[in-house]
Amino acid sequence: MNAPLNNAIAAMLPDLVALRHDLHRHPELMYEVPRTAGIVAAQLRACGFDAVIEGVGRTGVLGILHGAAGPADGPDRRVLFRADMDALPIQEAGGGDHASTVPGRMHACGHDGHTVMLLGAARRLAETRAFDGTLVFCFQPAEEGGAGAQAMIDDGMLDRFPVKAAFGVHNTPGLPVGQFGVARGAALASSNSLLITVDGTGGHAAEPHKARDPIVAAAQIIGAVQTIVSRVVDPLQPAVVSITSIHAGDAFNVIPDSVEMRCNIRTFSESVAATVLAELRRICAATGEAHGVRVRLDQPSITPYPPTVNDRAQTDHAVAAMRTVAGSEHVHDALKPVMASEDFAFVLRRVPGAFIFIGNGDTAAVHNPAYDFNDAAIPYGVAYWTELAKQVLPA
Ligand SMILES: [Zn+2]
Ligand SMILES: [Zn+2]
Repeated sequence: MNAPLNNAIAAMLPDLVALRHDLHRHPELMYEVPRTAGIVAAQLRACGFDAVIEGVGRTGVLGILHGAAGPADGPDRRVLFRADMDALPIQEAGGGDHASTVPGRMHACGHDGHTVMLLGAARRLAETRAFDGTLVFCFQPAEEGGAGAQAMIDDGMLDRFPVKAAFGVHNTPGLPVGQFGVARGAALASSNSLLITVDGTGGHAAEPHKARDPIVAAAQIIGAVQTIVSRVVDPLQPAVVSITSIHAGDAFNVIPDSVEMRCNIRTFSESVAATVLAELRRICAATGEAHGVRVRLDQPSITPYPPTVNDRAQTDHAVAAMRTVAGSEHVHDALKPVMASEDFAFVLRRVPGAFIFIGNGDTAAVHNPAYDFNDAAIPYGVAYWTELAKQVLPA
C-alpha cells in the first residue's frame, strides 16, 4: 500500500474530498451536466493540460496531456482514461452535510467519486508528466442509460484521438476500501430493452367469441419466452430474458383491445444477444398468428448496451498497477462477471482495454437512496490512475 501514502497525493486529498462533496451536493442528470462539466474543464485547464475540449457528445469533456518527452506520434503511444459525471433520479436518504441540494436527484452510483479520482490523477500527472506519449482524459455524460460514451464516439472522440487502449474504473460496495478487482474477459452484460405490444380486438367479457383476446396471447408469449434461455441458448452461455411489466385493461367485464409488456435481455456476448432477439421475434410473430392478434416489438428510446469485455493484455497492465497500489493480496484479478451493464462497453467495443472495480467499503449498494461514495477510496483511485499511466506508457 505504498502509493496512497504518497505525499503528493495525500497533500491534495482535502481539496479532492471538498470537490467530491461539492459535486455530490449538485447532482446533474444524463446529458444535462453543465455545472459538473464546467468544473472538470476548469480544473484540467488550471493544472496545465495541453488541450481541453468541451461539448464532445453534447456535454462530454476531453483533456489532452502529453508526457515529458512531448506528444505521442501515433495511436501506439496514446491511451484513454475515462470517468463518468452523471447522477440518478433518486431521492437521497441521509447524505450528511454534503447531501444533494436537488430534490429527487442524487449521486447514487458514485460518479462524483469517479470524476474526482480522475481529476486527482490529472493534477498529479500534469505535475510529473512521468509517462511517454499522450493521455486522453475522458469525462462522459449520460452513463446511466443515455449511452453518453457512444455519443462521444459519434462526435469523433476516437477518430480525432485514436488510442491503443482505454481504461475505466467503477466503485463497488462490499469490497473493502484499499482493494481492487477485475473480471477477465466479459465483465458486465449487454442490456437490450424492448416494448412488446399485443393488439387484439376488445369486447364484452361475456362474449369472448366476438373478440380477439390479447391477454391470452400475451400470457402465451410470457410462457414461451421462458424457453429461450432454457431451450435455445447454449447452456454454457449466460443469458437472462425478463418480462418486467404488463399493462392491459381496467375493468372486470371488458376484454381489452391491447396488452403492453416490457422486456429486458442480458447476455455476455453480442452473438447470444442476437440469438435471443431472433427467438423473441419468432415467438411473438408465431403466437400472434396462432391467436389472430398482431404482436409488435419496438425498441424504446433506451439504447441497447453491448457487453463490457476486458482485453487480456490490457487487463494485465491494470492488474500490475492495482498490485503496485494495493499489494497483490488486495487485488482480486478473476472476479465473476456481473449482469449489470455499463456504458464503457461502447469504448471497449472499439479499443482494447479494461474496466476495473475499486472497493467502496461497507456502504449501501449503488442506486440505493442511502448510498454514498466513500472518500477513503479517493487516494487509491488517484494512485491507480497515476500508476497505470506509467504501466501503459512507460517513459
Ligand atoms: Zn449506475
Ligand atoms: Zn455507475
